[in-house]
Amino acid sequence: MSTSPELADVVVVGAGPAGLTAARELRKQGVGSVVVLEREAEAGGIPRHSNHTGYGIRDLRRVMSGPRYARRLATEAVHSGAALRTESMVTGWDDDCTLWVTSPGGRYRMQALAIVLATGARERPRTARMVPGDRPAGVLTTGQLQSLVYAHGRQLGGNAVVVGAELVSWSAVLTLRHAGCRTTLMTTRHARPESYAAFTMAGRSALSVSVATRTSVTRIIGHGQVRAVEIKDLVTGGRRIVPCDVVVFTGDWIPDLELARLRGVEMDVGHRGPVVDSALCTSAEGIFAAGNLIHPVDTADIAALDGSHVAEQVANHLKGQPPRQQGFRITVREPFTWVTPSVIGTPAIAPPRSRVLLWSNEFRALPTIEVSQAGAVICRRRVPWPVSPGRVFRLPWGMFASADPDRGDVVVSLA
Ligand SMILES: Cc1cc2nc3c(=O)[nH]c(=O)nc-3n(C[C@H](O)[C@H](O)[C@H](O)COP(=O)(O)OP(=O)(O)OC[C@H]3O[C@@H](n4cnc5c(N)ncnc54)[C@H](O)[C@@H]3O)c2cc1C
Repeated sequence: MSTSPELADVVVVGAGPAGLTAARELRKQGVGSVVVLEREAEAGGIPRHSNHTGYGIRDLRRVMSGPRYARRLATEAVHSGAALRTESMVTGWDDDCTLWVTSPGGRYRMQALAIVLATGARERPRTARMVPGDRPAGVLTTGQLQSLVYAHGRQLGGNAVVVGAELVSWSAVLTLRHAGCRTTLMTTRHARPESYAAFTMAGRSALSVSVATRTSVTRIIGHGQVRAVEIKDLVTGGRRIVPCDVVVFTGDWIPDLELARLRGVEMDVGHRGPVVDSALCTSAEGIFAAGNLIHPVDTADIAALDGSHVAEQVANHLKGQPPRQQGFRITVREPFTWVTPSVIGTPAIAPPRSRVLLWSNEFRALPTIEVSQAGAVICRRRVPWPVSPGRVFRLPWGMFASADPDRGDVVVSLA
C-alpha cells in the first residue's frame, strides 16, 4: 500500500448514541476534524430499529422513539461539522493510531491523533449460548427481530417464547406484538424477573405474558421452522415442551470488542470490553472507549453521556495535557461481576455522571455496599435501589472519595 493514510484529528468508530454524541461534543470543544466511521448504511446504532418510546431521557431531557432519537443524534453530529461516513467498516489497525477501513469506495487507511471506540454491544445468539437441538428458522436475538420487523416490515404471526426477562426482553415482546406474534412465555434462570417490577407487572397484565423463573431453554425443536422449545425447571430438574413458532434470545450481552482486542489494549475479564479509567481512556495512550463497549449494557442516554464525557477528555488530550498516570484499581466481589471505570487515574477525575457502574448476578433489595481498601472499610452505605441481574447498578463517585492512591486496590462488595 503506497498511498498515505487519510488524516483526522479524531476518528470515532461507531455511530450509535455514544459515538454520535462524542463527535458532536468534540466539534463543540473546537476539535478541527472529526470523522465518524459506521459500518451500517445508516447512522444511529441500536435505536434505529427500536421502534418504541423510552429514548433521550437523561441526555436530551425528553422522551422519544428509538428511530427519532437516532435521527436527531445523527443530524446534530453532522450539523456540528463532524464527517459521518456510513458503510465504512473498520477492520483493523495498520499501526498504533491508523485504522483500516473498508467501504464501497475501496479499502483505505485513516490516521488520527486520538481514536474513540464506540462499537457497542450485542446479544449472544443461540449458538454462543450453546443451546442444543434442531437448527430451524425462527430463532433470533432481539436485534435481529427488530431489524426484520422494523427495517424489513416482516409480519411473523404465531406464538413466541422469549428467553430472558430484562428490559430488552420486554422490548422484544412489544416488537413481536407489532409483528402479529403473541409471546406465550418468558423464561429466566433467575429467581425473579430482571426487569423493574413495574415493567414486569405491566407486561404480565397488559400483554398477558407469563414469566417462568428459575428455568432455562434446553432444546430447540423443529425442522425448517421452530415448532417448540424444551424448558427445564432449574429447581426440580423437570422438563416440559412449550409449542412456539419463534424463539427470541434476549440480553446476555457481549461488547463488540474485536477492534479493542486487536489494538492490544487491556481487556476486562468481567464485561470483556476494554478496561478504562474515569477519563474513559484505555491502557493505550490516545485510544478512548465509550458506550456499551465498556458497560454491556446500559441505556442509550447513558451511552450518549459517555460520549459527552469522553469528548472533553479527548480535547484535553489533544491540547497536550500530560498523559494521565495509571492509578489504582477498583475491583469487585461476588455477586458483582464487573465494574467500570475500573481504574482511578491520577489525578482522579469523576467518571461520566459521577457514577461508577457495576453488574450483579444476584438480586438484593436495599443493599448495603462497602468500599474497602487495604482491608479497611472506607465507605459503607445502604442504597435505596436494588442490585439486580440484567441491569446496571450505579454507585455515586463520592463513595470512592477517600480512597488513597498509595494504599492499593479498592474493593466493592455487599455487606
Ligand atoms: C431491543 C432493545 C431495546 C432498547 N430499548 C431502549 C430504550 O427504550 N431506551 C434506552 O435508552 N435504551 C434502550 N436500549 C439500549 C440502547 O439501544 C443502547 O444502550 C445504545 O444503543 C448503546 O449505544 P452505543 O453507542 O454504545 O452502541 P450501539 O447503539 O450499539 O452503536 C454502536 C455502533 O457501532 C457500529 N460499529 C460496530 N463495530 C464497528 C466497526 N468495526 N466499524 C464501524 N462501525 C462499527 C455499529 O454498527 C453500531 O452502529 C435498547 C436496546 C435494545 C437492544
